[in-house]
Amino acid sequence: MQPIQKSQKLANVCYDIRGPVLEHAKRMEEEGHRIIKLNIGNPAPFGFFAPDEIIEDVIVNLQNASGYCDSKGLFAARKAIMHYAQQKQIPNVGMEDIYIGNGVSELIVMAMQALLDNGDEVLVPAPDYPLWTAAVSLAGGKPVHYLCEEEQGWLPSIADIRAKITPNTKALVIINPNNPTGALYPDHILQQLVEVAREHGLLLYADEIYDKVLYDGATHTSIASLAPDLMVCTFNGLSKNYRACGYRAGWLILSGDKRRAKDYIEGLNMLASMRLCANVPSQYAIQTALGGYQSIDDLVAPSGRLARQRDLAHKLLTEIPGVTCVKPQGALYLFPRLDPDIYPIEDDQQFILELLQLERVLLVQGSGFNWIAPDHFRVVFLPNSDDLTEAIGRIARFLENYRKR
Ligand code: PLP
Repeated sequence: MQPIQKSQKLANVCYDIRGPVLEHAKRMEEEGHRIIKLNIGNPAPFGFFAPDEIIEDVIVNLQNASGYCDSKGLFAARKAIMHYAQQKQIPNVGMEDIYIGNGVSELIVMAMQALLDNGDEVLVPAPDYPLWTAAVSLAGGKPVHYLCEEEQGWLPSIADIRAKITPNTKALVIINPNNPTGALYPDHILQQLVEVAREHGLLLYADEIYDKVLYDGATHTSIASLAPDLMVCTFNGLSKNYRACGYRAGWLILSGDKRRAKDYIEGLNMLASMRLCANVPSQYAIQTALGGYQSIDDLVAPSGRLARQRDLAHKLLTEIPGVTCVKPQGALYLFPRLDPDIYPIEDDQQFILELLQLERVLLVQGSGFNWIAPDHFRVVFLPNSDDLTEAIGRIARFLENYRKR
């Protein structure tokens, strides 16, 4: 009999955050090893629980949540998202412009499936949250990576974006605050990104899922608020700001010049209908979350647990010889650099696998985020201070031995 093979569509699709190294870690755990995991931005297992009021609203409404709802989502939840869009000065957003999905992930895939024909190009940051690259490839498009520059605090290089635009370029993806770098883009950079999109008629995709996870008193500007004349798709959800990754509740907001995108929007509507609707119970959390007490503030304040862990992890990592790291202003991650003269790494997945095997610390290699060289890795700073200290101590020991090879 013929072997059953995966589709050719998956040939260029890759998602290394849950890739082969994680599989190896699972096998080690089954053998009884305790691994310190700094690999996934999932707050709940580290004691960052969703606010009680959100959980209570889901429980209270479970009785009403057993039927399908509108393909775009529950009315009350979308209304709350519309108010949120108004607060963030995202222009020209009505109820019909909001789509609730099973996490932002589902909506990213949907947005790419609705847009791309074979060979269409989408500008995606390097490094990126790799679902963006994977979703473009899966939809038959070609991800074209533009550089974010470490020396500039990981801000996008406008020159590189311009250099990579071709007649096939359809859209520009912006992840702000960024995963994996933690960079928060200032308004003047956002303005320049809007100008490029305007000049070339590009659709803007803004992944703003960390827009409340901000340190040092920083504030966030939605790029859509600067682009009333462009078609912008803004993504956000409950996973990070409300520490409810498991609820799988995300949303997409269409704003700006929607007339130009009438056909695209028809495509989005069809794909939203085909999957009937997003998980209904969790949609009951959205109105409460967006309207309620914003408990993330206590975590990101200078004395808050997240901010303290960011500071600690940054300090400990940058004390290791040959390790430098831009301090993140948002999100849950550090993306340190290993000086290639000191650590001549050829295959960063192999490097991360060896670290796992020898020191039982799980990280994700930089190439998993489509970074261009094998000289970075991502650290999630959700584990408590003791675990972070232990894990980074083990990384330091591993690197010291690596240097001596
Ligand atoms: N976008 C970014 C930048 C992320 O970091 C993540 C998850 O880590 C997602 C989207 C996916 O979010 P969701 O849980 O809403 O699917």
